[in-house]
Amino acid sequence: MSSRPDSDVRVRFAPSPTGWLHVGGARTAYFNWLFARQHGGRFVVRIEDTDVARSTDESEKGVLDDLAWLGLDHDEGPDRGGPLGPYRQSERLDLYRERADWLVAQGLAYPCFCTDAELELRRAAARAAGRPPHYDGTCRGLSLDERAGLARAGRPASIRFRVEPEDWTLEDAVRGTVRFPAGMVGDFVLLRSSGLPTYNFACVVDDAGMRISHVIRAEEHLPNTARQLMLYRAVAVAPPRFAHVPLILNSDRSKMSKRSGEVAVAVGDWRRAGYVPDALLSYLALLGFHPGDDREILSRAEMLESFTLERVGRSGSVFDPAKLGWVNAHYLHHASGEQLEAWGAAFLPRALASVEPARRAALLQGVRGNLATLADLPSELGPFVEETVTLDPDARAALEPETARTLCGTLAVELEGLAQWSGDAVKSAIQSVGRRLALKGSALFQPVRAALTGRVHGPELPLVAELVGRDRCVARLRNASRRSPG
Ligand code: GLU
Repeated sequence: MSSRPDSDVRVRFAPSPTGWLHVGGARTAYFNWLFARQHGGRFVVRIEDTDVARSTDESEKGVLDDLAWLGLDHDEGPDRGGPLGPYRQSERLDLYRERADWLVAQGLAYPCFCTDAELELRRAAARAAGRPPHYDGTCRGLSLDERAGLARAGRPASIRFRVEPEDWTLEDAVRGTVRFPAGMVGDFVLLRSSGLPTYNFACVVDDAGMRISHVIRAEEHLPNTARQLMLYRAVAVAPPRFAHVPLILNSDRSKMSKRSGEVAVAVGDWRRAGYVPDALLSYLALLGFHPGDDREILSRAEMLESFTLERVGRSGSVFDPAKLGWVNAHYLHHASGEQLEAWGAAFLPRALASVEPARRAALLQGVRGNLATLADLPSELGPFVEETVTLDPDARAALEPETARTLCGTLAVELEGLAQWSGDAVKSAIQSVGRRLALKGSALFQPVRAALTGRVHGPELPLVAELVGRDRCVARLRNASRRSPG
């Protein structure tokens, strides 16, 4: 794939606003975004809201908000406008009606007056007789007079596409050659009697009208692609290049969905649990895309370098939350303070707002090594932003021995008298008190850490001292030295 800017590249992400953004959807959106950005093309978001009963504004907002959180900015869409809109299918109903009427006028589609009840009966009969439950063609051969008569009688009509008995072949950018044998698909509905289009029809009208050059979407739509290829020929538009991306699976290799409920499937759940957007994107991308080497984390910039549709695998991949956790921790452990502050805005303790920016960044960077998720920020930052510390059970145990309390009292005096307050100076002071009291290793460092932070794990002690500041260090050591045992 060349990286030459090619403004003819137009891709789209087309969510149905009937729920939240699924991790599979996020990956599809990411692949589309990468492809658009690599080629200097346009990334379009189209809202497929023709399922009026299930579509909600709230869902549309949630999906757009999650996409923005992931940093997958789009160039055209319902919230951004663009030259080939509107970008919400519910605002394009006239267009579907007009195209459907045109297809009828060409003899490529026909009005169908069969009712749902009639269709269901015939489908059941076909199944019972071992035939495919395709439309039986009742309205296919109606004369113009017959149609007019039924319409006059008040029978509502859908518009059905006339499928010719023909084999179809798709050259898919991921799956290679895919064959759809004749007879796989019966005459299908384009426009329901309610005037609402079916997915396949609206999709082709829109992908053609929005001049989509590449359709990168989930593999579950592959059977739809046969119908869509027929429709492209009917409307005399060259089809886009298709790339069907395999599914994301549960550990039992079933499709990962809300219903299976094993692992969180909503991007929002991972977001609220304190996962970093870049970590989620890197993890999801590598669930389908093989970089060709053994890298396990690829940044957005690296993906922009490496991504090609040809390197997307053909089989589904199992979602492993432990691996995602590992990627997330990697991002957290290597982030700058400023980056953590931006990612962690929703998690930061209120007290942090009054800390000046440089110190805030130092604090965040100081605790980053102990973060598994951003949700750990309040507890990790607590010792540094709260006035007093609360000892956890391990810290209490570390301060139990008489020697630990003597150590804290002696160190308090020493720190109070330091000519200059710095991490290094504190380190030397701890070592010199240790020598005096014949304490070293964990007998020396654990009680100090426990007194200063209320816990026995955390950033390096010199950094802790710098972050906590002299006055609070001295006060905390004094407190610890005065604790009664037990
Ligand atoms: N609205 C469809 C979905 O959410 C889009 C399918 C497509 O990309 O064509 O699955």
